[in-house]
Amino acid sequence: MTSRTSRTSREQRIADFIAPFRVEPGQKVKLGRDFAPDFKGTIGSKKRGRKLLVQGTELLSEYQSRLYADNTHGVLVVLQALDAAGKDGTIRHVMTGVNPQGVAVHSFKVPSSEELDHDYLWRYGVRLPGRGQIGIFNRSHYEEVLVVRVHQELLDRQKLPRGTRKGVWKRRYHEINEWERMLSANGIKIVKLFLNLSHEEQRIRFLRRIDLRDHNWKFSAADVREREYWDSYQNAFSRMLSSTSTEWAPWYVIPADRKWYARIAAAAVIANTLIEIDPRYPKVGKDARAALQEIKTALEKQAPEGAAPDPFAGE
Ligand code: ATP
Ligand code: MG
Repeated sequence: MTSRTSRTSREQRIADFIAPFRVEPGQKVKLGRDFAPDFKGTIGSKKRGRKLLVQGTELLSEYQSRLYADNTHGVLVVLQALDAAGKDGTIRHVMTGVNPQGVAVHSFKVPSSEELDHDYLWRYGVRLPGRGQIGIFNRSHYEEVLVVRVHQELLDRQKLPRGTRKGVWKRRYHEINEWERMLSANGIKIVKLFLNLSHEEQRIRFLRRIDLRDHNWKFSAADVREREYWDSYQNAFSRMLSSTSTEWAPWYVIPADRKWYARIAAAAVIANTLIEIDPRYPKVGKDARAALQEIKTALEKQAPEGAAPDPFAGE
């Protein structure tokens, strides 16, 4: 009874913690106005944050085992962000401790010609997690209404039939919502995280990648060129968040200017999703238990000298 009570209060604390990040379905989001990239709530210090992250990853690990054993639901974590917002670090830190057999990360880059020969959701569909699995999309189908919207020449390469470009973004929001609704109704729960980085913090992180030798490999001149489209991206993100946060697949805007905070927030959102799914270890029924007992008795009766003769003896 005690443990049930404390678990409930822990679950409640997690739900309260993530509430400010959630985009309510139908909410009109304007990023600069509605969500602060440097928000750090009441956690206060990085040290306390680290401790909470350890607790969070332990909880994830426990729930992942149950998800795996239950084999009914899959979880898809969608991660979207601008460059240097910390997608890779978030995945690494949040997923430490989780059984690698139950997790797969997929990173989506510029589509190949084979991918462009299919509808725009095809390449994402084939990489969805199965039941019992956690899938992480490092970039995702949302690129189709982000980078492709900011650089509309990318849409030209998608070979859309004549006459279908009019209203394409609104249509894509709708199609994505319906696709996610179908997945959710069929056991694949989707949780969407947008790492919200400020313009200034991105500049600082790019500079650090240049200044620190062992970070040089992370620096890309293309990322700095992409930064020139900052306002267009903020606009595309705001529209995406306003149009595709749904009851069945909500968006969470994660404050990303402090890496340690972003990691706890991401872990908490994923943990909350698993808590809501509430996966359970399969119960072994009375008959199955009786069968186990029979096998146990037979095994116990097998004396070592009663073992089958060794077919290789004498070689
Ligand atoms: P990192 O830089 O940390 O390795 P990344 O996700 O930025 O990770 P990159 O290879 O640098 O990986 O960039 C991938 C690029 O592919 C991004 O610029 C992204 O916008 C682009 N991209 C992803 N999906 C699409 C798409 N559907 N159409 C066009 N470009 C896309
Ligand atoms: Mg990159």
